[in-house]
Amino acid sequence: MRREGLDLYAADPAFVRRMRRLLGSEYGWAAEHLHRMGALAGGPVAACSVQAEAYPPELVRYDREGNRIDRVRFHPAYERMRELAYGSGIVALAYDERARPAGGRAPRVLVFGLGYVFSQAEQGLYCPICMTDGAARLVERYAEPEVRERWLPRLTARELDRLAEGAMWLTEKQGGSDVGANTTRAVEGPDGRWRLYGDKWFCSNLGAEVMMVMARPEGAGPGTRGLGLFLVPLHRGDGSRNAIRFHRLKDKLGTRSMPTGEATLEGAEGWLLAGPGRGFKAMTEMLNLSRLYNAVASCGAMRRACFEALEHARERTAFGRVLEDHPLHREVLADMVVRTEASTALVFETVARLDRMDRGIGSEDDRVLWRALTPLVKLHTAKQAVAVASEGVEALGGNGYIEEFPTARLLRDAQVLPIWEGTTNILALDLLLRAIGREGACDALARWIEQRLAAASERSTLLEAAGLVEAGFVAWREAVGDALALEGSPDVRYARGFAHRLARLCEAAILLDEAAADLAGGDARAQALALRHVARFVAGPDDAGLRPAPALEPPVWQALSRGTELALEAV
Ligand SMILES: Cc1cc2nc3c(=O)[nH]c(=O)nc-3n(C[C@H](O)[C@H](O)[C@H](O)COP(=O)(O)OP(=O)(O)OC[C@H]3O[C@@H](n4cnc5c(N)ncnc54)[C@H](O)[C@@H]3O)c2cc1C
Repeated sequence: MRREGLDLYAADPAFVRRMRRLLGSEYGWAAEHLHRMGALAGGPVAACSVQAEAYPPELVRYDREGNRIDRVRFHPAYERMRELAYGSGIVALAYDERARPAGGRAPRVLVFGLGYVFSQAEQGLYCPICMTDGAARLVERYAEPEVRERWLPRLTARELDRLAEGAMWLTEKQGGSDVGANTTRAVEGPDGRWRLYGDKWFCSNLGAEVMMVMARPEGAGPGTRGLGLFLVPLHRGDGSRNAIRFHRLKDKLGTRSMPTGEATLEGAEGWLLAGPGRGFKAMTEMLNLSRLYNAVASCGAMRRACFEALEHARERTAFGRVLEDHPLHREVLADMVVRTEASTALVFETVARLDRMDRGIGSEDDRVLWRALTPLVKLHTAKQAVAVASEGVEALGGNGYIEEFPTARLLRDAQVLPIWEGTTNILALDLLLRAIGREGACDALARWIEQRLAAASERSTLLEAAGLVEAGFVAWREAVGDALALEGSPDVRYARGFAHRLARLCEAAILLDEAAADLAGGDARAQALALRHVARFVAGPDDAGLRPAPALEPPVWQALSRGTELALEAV
């Protein structure tokens, strides 16, 4: 199949169905954006992405007269990607009150749908897009009117000459997870202006115009409670360069098209958005959004790995048969597809909750679920992305390991997904101790899972699987309860395992519900997907083959691998 010039959205019928399902009556106008992004990601963005990776950004520290200028220089291909990405409205649509034909902002489901498609072609630039969106969200919610009016239109602009990109500066040498150890200081001058002093150790999108910075105002207490949130621009109001020094760019394993560097604030002027006591809490709003971005990027990476592996398996012959006709290889590919679609289902379920809350129609259960699902989807999908991207490399054999093929880079890019925006351990602890332990997410989860299993429990073909998920959740809840029951010192050793197990159960509940709905409409594909997911990832131990998944007969395999519908008579 010809890959260049392909509409990556149209080439993914399973995701098209997901968008239809979630966008409902809004799908018509939203589809235009999705197809446009599909064509960009399969065409010019894909081409530019290869160039931008081959010619990564450089830090230019001096001009020819020897003056420090600390500027990041990009290859024109990266600039072109920026133009295409921001021009598509990938950030702007979420803020534009005229995005919907009937008026109002675009739903996050659409904006993240665009991200899922875009990130299949380019993971590096998706990070600045994420931080620009996050900065806009904080500015809109926390900045004084004067600051908001100055920066929000620029953070949400579609044209490069007006656009101000965002960045977030938390991590310091002594700690990324332990943000409370931050030592960057903020001093309020007699003129009422804040000046920041300190080193930041990981600064992605170095050279961005708007930094969201964590710093400790003089006299504030220790830990995260003593931190304030500041907006620090790269340039002052008069156009002069703010007192920020760039030291070097990191030599990274992946996301090489995008600069991550080290910087020092040397009395840089900034605006306080939220002071001690509120600063870190405000920052978590940006982090929560970026965790969803991370999860969407993980799904995008997985989908791309599946796409490459499936295409290859249809074309490549070994031992007299195309690869996809080898039963063992077919199982491997099916697992990749199931992991990808299950992750995507859970991520967009979480995004839909964010939409409801942003529109002010979310219930308390929505809020609690969103709170628990956000760290969950970030940590779970990131690990899935690395596993699926790795399988994608192997699925292409030796070629998969060679940089001329996209799979090698996919794996390198994916490896950062479990690290930034909170590592797997940090998020597993957040889920266990805070979302579940402190905020009591178990009850809301139980109600939601029960509700999602209701329709499947009415179907003879889904009943057993629904029962397994229900029983699995009861056992999970008991184990989590035991771990938290130890007064004062909960047993956190299995926090990761708890999280991944919960993710599998939630994924299964959604897939079974969708299976029941699609069966009613005469399509059995979602059933095949859900039953395979339960057999492989809920009921049986991974890869042991002790509990065989449903057979991959030709019509089932066709539907699973191509995302197309499956007639009821075929199963
Ligand atoms: C390419 C890249 C770009 C980045 N860009 C940015 C950026 O733009 N802005 C920014 O602020 N940061 C950025 N980061 C930093 C990133 O967010 C941190 O690296 C990450 O949060 C981990 O922090 P750390 O490196 O200090 O590791 P540590 O916090 O030292 O963690 C090391 C290991 O210990 C584990 N660990 C830590 N604490 C615990 C605990 N309590 N219990 C169990 N395990 C624990 C972690 O899970 C991890 O595996 C970037 C990182 C990378 C790799």
